[in-house]
Order: sequence, then structure tokens, then C-alpha cells
Amino acid sequence: MKSIRTKVLAIITCIFVLLVIGSQLVSMQILKTGFKDFEKHDAALDIKRAKKALEAEIDYLSSINLDWAVWDETYRFMKETNKKFIEENIVSNFFIEQQMAFIIFLNPDQSLYWGRGFDFTKNQEKIIGADFSSFFSDRIVFKSNEIYSGFRGILNAAGKTYIITAHKIFKTDHSGLSNGILVMGKELDSSLLKKIGKRVDLNVEFYVSESVDLPLWAENAFKDKNSLSIVYPDNEKLIAYTKLKDVSGLNSFILSAELEREIYNLGRKTIRYFFISLLLLGLVLSMLTYLLLETQVIRRIKNLSRQVKNLYLQKPGKRAVVLEGRDELTLLAYEMNKMLKLLDLKSNALESMTVKLKSVNSHLYELANTDPLTRLANRRNIFAYLSSFIEIAKRYNKSFCICIFDIDNFKQINDKYGHSAGDIVLKDISEASEEIIRKADKLARIGGEEFLLLLSDTDIEGAVSLCERLRFVLASRTVRADNNKIKYTSSFGVTAYLKDKDSTDSIFMRADKYLYKAKSKGKNAVVSDINYFYQNET
Ligand code: GH3
Ligand code: MG
Ligand code: MG
Repeated sequence: MKSIRTKVLAIITCIFVLLVIGSQLVSMQILKTGFKDFEKHDAALDIKRAKKALEAEIDYLSSINLDWAVWDETYRFMKETNKKFIEENIVSNFFIEQQMAFIIFLNPDQSLYWGRGFDFTKNQEKIIGADFSSFFSDRIVFKSNEIYSGFRGILNAAGKTYIITAHKIFKTDHSGLSNGILVMGKELDSSLLKKIGKRVDLNVEFYVSESVDLPLWAENAFKDKNSLSIVYPDNEKLIAYTKLKDVSGLNSFILSAELEREIYNLGRKTIRYFFISLLLLGLVLSMLTYLLLETQVIRRIKNLSRQVKNLYLQKPGKRAVVLEGRDELTLLAYEMNKMLKLLDLKSNALESMTVKLKSVNSHLYELANTDPLTRLANRRNIFAYLSSFIEIAKRYNKSFCICIFDIDNFKQINDKYGHSAGDIVLKDISEASEEIIRKADKLARIGGEEFLLLLSDTDIEGAVSLCERLRFVLASRTVRADNNKIKYTSSFGVTAYLKDKDSTDSIFMRADKYLYKAKSKGKNAVVSDINYFYQNET
């Protein structure tokens, strides 16, 4: 048998485990869809800002480029009319102030007219010769419309990356034909990246597809189709990146920003705290539920069952169980008390009925075993005694005798004095006989005026002598009925029990035979096995 307590504990544990698993799944889902998406969105915005900052840097270069390209002095420089002016202005200070890597003047056919670069490591100017120009013109052919509105791009050349701009050279008032192209470039080096990073408050990095020491994620990023995406090197940080095209339209660069996974980790932390609080709450609620159940139900049921168990110690009629409170259990106790009262009432009724039944039974027994007139045992009863007399005689090797006696000429008494007088005679004979016999002997009325006497522990001589005495006593009695004095005599058949031979029938029939003999020999006589014969000696 499993107790309620075990069952409840099992249910609480199951609910608790399900709660833990369920909330874990739900929180993981929230973390994945909610916080991760939010974080993705935020990181995309960040890398777009960084890209814009880079574009702004290019725009700034383009504006300087435009200033120089649309200027009478430059225009004339291309006509070789003021060569000195430009050459004297484009000096080291110009490169250092503008962080310019190179400035190149191209003829209208895009061949090199004049170029100057600056080596920031050596901190000195360098003349750009035909080699650079050939490399340059191989890679870019400026289209007329691009250059007119201003060309912008990123270029990888001679192991370095540059942002470059180009503009057609015009007079300051735009009058006349264009006279060549002015190209400017800045190296996209760590200091420029730092500047961009500072502007957008991000830790930006730049990767070139041709580079040999690319991190794995960048290698993969170059291969995939997304132009903007996010990778997660670990739980603490993420890298948002965007691919950038070079001047020939190939995806050759990656601009990336490494970001702390603050949102995700905050989300994780929040969910962990939420989860722990849920766990604690669940634990407290489970304990409260259990305690409530223990005090409100289990303990009280135990109390009730203890009281029910001890009900037998209480007096019938006063039996009751006591349970405090006002709920279903007290209602149960109330109903039990009602039932107990009903039961007690029923058992009282049953008890009195049993008493009645007992008395009826004993009355019935008496009726079944007693002759109503003389109150002696009846025929049925004496035959049961006869059986047990036989049993006792057999087992203890005892002797006993039986005697059947019958009133002589009783019909005549009835006829002469009336039936009720006959009844009085019958009562008289029973009273007189009972006075003579011993307590251990048994007398019965077995027919109208016929009696059977069982004489225990008696041999035939004793039996005959007792019957003779009885015959004598009865014959000497006078019965008074309605002023009549009635005298009567009786005849006796006596026989002893023959061990291992006699049955109830055989011994009875023998005695009856002797009685018949006594009658036929003139009545008022005793006839027995030993043929004693007494007659008319009164
Ligand atoms: P016998 O000497 O041969 O025994 O003759 P008897 O007249 O005594 O015997 P019988 O069998 O001829 O008659 C018995 C009578 O006993 C007949 C019956 O009316 C009477 N009797 C039987 N039972 C009762 C009883 O309960 N009360 C009365 N008053 N008479 C009874
Ligand atoms: Mg008779
Ligand atoms: Mg008779």
C-alpha cells in the first residue's frame, strides 16, 4: 500500500522536474530568439556605422580631391604654365597634414603626368614613376562619368590597401574642357582604422582576401554569400563584418568589429536568475504544499483512523470520533458519528431481538422436547437420552436398564371420570414417579398413558426392584378429581442394556415386548429379562 504522503511527494517531484525542464526549454528559446536576434540587429547596426565612417573618410578625401581638381592653378599646372607652384605646394607638410599616401596627376588619356607619394615609415617624399603608373593604369580605367562626379574606391596595390578618389581637372569656374585627372590616395592602415574605430566607438579591423594569415572565420566569410553577417568565436564576444568591394568590383575586403556579447550575456544572466528564482519558488511552494497536506490532511486522516481503530474501547451508544476544523474531513467524521449512532441503535435492537429469540428458542426447545401436560421429556427427547446412555455404557463399560410402563385400563378411567380426570391421573403418575427415581435417571411420557424410564448405572435386579416399588406406589395412590377418588394400576416391561448388541430400537422393542407380556398376564405387573413377575400384590 502506497501512502498518500508518498504519492503526493512523487507528484510534487514530477511537477518540479517538469517545471525545471520546461522553464529551461522556454528560457533557452527566449534567449535564442529574443536576445540573440536583438544582439544580431544591434551588431549589424554597429558594423553599418563603421562602414559609414569609412565612407565618410573616403568622402572627405574626395572633397579635398575636388578642391584641388577644380582649381585654376591645377589646371594651369597641367598646361605646364605654373609647374613650380604646384610642385612647391605639394610638399612633405601637405602629405603629413592630410595623411595623404599619394597624389597623381593623369593626362586626359590616363597616362601619368606627375605623381608624388609619401613614405610615412621613412618620413620622406617619393617620386611616383612609370612603374606605379603602369600598375595603376592596369588596374583602373576611370570612366568619364565616374571621374566627372568623383570616383571613390578601395584599392589593394603593392601589398598595401588604399582609399582612393579621382576627379576631372577643371578651371575654377568649370569653363573650358577638362585637362586630365587628379587622383589622391590614403593608406588604409592601422592608424586610419583606429581613427574610424574611435569615431564609431568600436574596435574595427580590416582584412584583405589575398592576405595569407587570415583567421578562419574571415576565410569562411570571404567564401559565403552574405555581404553582412555575424560570427561567434566564443560566448563572450561576437564579430560583425561587412564585405567591401575593391575598385574592380570584387569582394576583396572585410571590415569587422569585435563586440562584447553584452546583450546576450545579460539575457543569459537574467534568465539564470529568473530560473533560479523559479526553482526556489517552486521549492518553497512544493514544501508549503507538502506541509499543508501533512497538517491539513495526512495528520488528520491518521488521527481519524486511530480513533476508528480504538472505537471498540468505547461504550456502545457513546462511540464517536472527534476531528477539529470545518471541511470535508470533519464532514466525514460527522457522517461517521451518525453512522455509529445508527449502528449502535441497530445493535441494541439486535441484542434485544437476540434475547427474545433465545427465550423463544428455549421455549421452542421445551415444546419440542417436553410433554406439555406432565412437563416430562417427550418421546423424541428420551430417545436422544437413550442414545447417549448407550454411548456412555459402551465407553465406560457401564450398565443401564430401561422400563416402559403403561396405565392399566386407562380408557375406562377416561370413560368413567372424564378426560380431564384422566389428565390428572397422568400428572399424578409423573409426579409420583419422579419422586421415586434418582436424579441421574430419566423419565419421559412417550405416548398417551405410556412412560419410558432410563435407569443409569443400574443392573436388571436393581431395575426390577425399583419398578416393582414404583408399581406398588402407583397402585396405592388415590387421585382426586371432581369429588371422585380414582385408583389406578400400571404394568411394566423392564430390560437391561446388552453391551455391543443393543441399539435404541432393539432395547426399546424388548422392553415393549415385556410390557405386552405384563399386560397379557393380567396387568399391574412387572416383566423383565430375568422373568421376575410380580402381580396383584397390592
Ligand atoms: P390397557 O390396560 O391394555 O393398557 O388398556 P387401556 O384402556 O389403558 O389402553 P388403550 O390403548 O385401549 O386406551 C388408552 C387410552 O388412553 C385411550 C385414550 O383416550 C387415552 N388417552 C391417551 N392420551 C390421553 C391424554 O392425554 N389424556 C387422557 N385423559 N386420556 C388419554
Ligand atoms: Mg393402558
Ligand atoms: Mg397404552
